[in-house]
Amino acid sequence: MKQNITLLGAGLVGSLLAILLQKRGYQVSVIERRGDMRKTTVSAGRSINLAMSVRGWAGLELADLRKEIEEIAIPMFGREIHPVEGNTIFQYYGKNKEAIYSVSRGELNKKLIELAEQNGVQFIFNKRILDVDIDTNTLTIEDTLTKEVSIDKNHELIIASDGAFSALRNAYTKKDRYNYNQFYIEHGYKELHIPAGPNSSFLMEKNALHIWPRKKLYAYCTSKYRWLIYLYAFLSFRRQSILYFFKNQRGNYRFLYYSISGCHCIDANIHRRLFTKSYFILSYC
Ligand SMILES: Cc1cc2nc3c(=O)[nH]c(=O)nc-3n(C[C@H](O)[C@H](O)[C@H](O)COP(=O)(O)OP(=O)(O)OC[C@H]3O[C@@H](n4cnc5c(N)ncnc54)[C@H](O)[C@@H]3O)c2cc1C
Repeated sequence: MKQNITLLGAGLVGSLLAILLQKRGYQVSVIERRGDMRKTTVSAGRSINLAMSVRGWAGLELADLRKEIEEIAIPMFGREIHPVEGNTIFQYYGKNKEAIYSVSRGELNKKLIELAEQNGVQFIFNKRILDVDIDTNTLTIEDTLTKEVSIDKNHELIIASDGAFSALRNAYTKKDRYNYNQFYIEHGYKELHIPAGPNSSFLMEKNALHIWPRKKLYAYCTSKYRWLIYLYAFLSFRRQSILYFFKNQRGNYRFLYYSISGCHCIDANIHRRLFTKSYFILSYC
């Protein structure tokens, strides 16, 4: 008889892996701390459009999802660089119309969960893994709605797909002779939306990854289907004092506008959000 497998985390990796394992005949359960994203909206600022390359498509092909995702993917044939001086430069990704694709992470994740469920995967939402006893495959789980904590011993094989701050990896760090490094990147990021223009038009070149490389600020944006443009601003945490300074100086607001020149549709509201919303951290290990 095939094993039961428990995956921790129903993100892109967890939901795709669940499909592949279930197709191989395993009985897969996925425990996810968030609610079912098909029923709730993705929390603001965390939706992040993905720029998907050939590796992403290869994964989707394994799950027979390529065709479906192609319908909501926007090809980006190159980078449109916005220098401080003004004139943009378009850098093609290849000679033969090669492209990376702008895809909504939320939509992609929902489709993967949907397909996994259709294949028999069981999803358990609103359950946060607090700890894993590696020797006995025991999970300490918090219900994120009731805050109730329970101990669950019924797991044959556990696989971590719970992202950058994995609870399972955290449990390993308490074991002898387990080496592990984690680094925080100097920059934090936030996501802003540039709404559609008149008649639902894109306000910038749709088929490009727009980049504003700056010393203190790096911003890029991708198009989302439905004419929305996502703008991601990356700022150094070490520059908090400068950020604060910007916040209080009208002149520096203008500097920022200048910094993201070419983004002619940026409005006062976006400026305000750039300074008032807190930044998400980035780490790697
Ligand atoms: C700003 C930014 C931009 C990016 N842009 C791109 C891009 O353009 N193209 C690209 O290919 N990649 C991009 N990435 C990387 C991509 O997002 C990751 O590689 C991908 O999300 C990893 O998927 P994952 O499923 O491993 O982790 P995640 O997407 O982080 O999913 C982990 C899941 O586990 C759940 N979870 C976490 N902890 C627990 C717990 N204790 N208990 C239960 N559940 C838990 C979470 O709620 C989540 O659903 C970007 C990342 C960032 C941060």
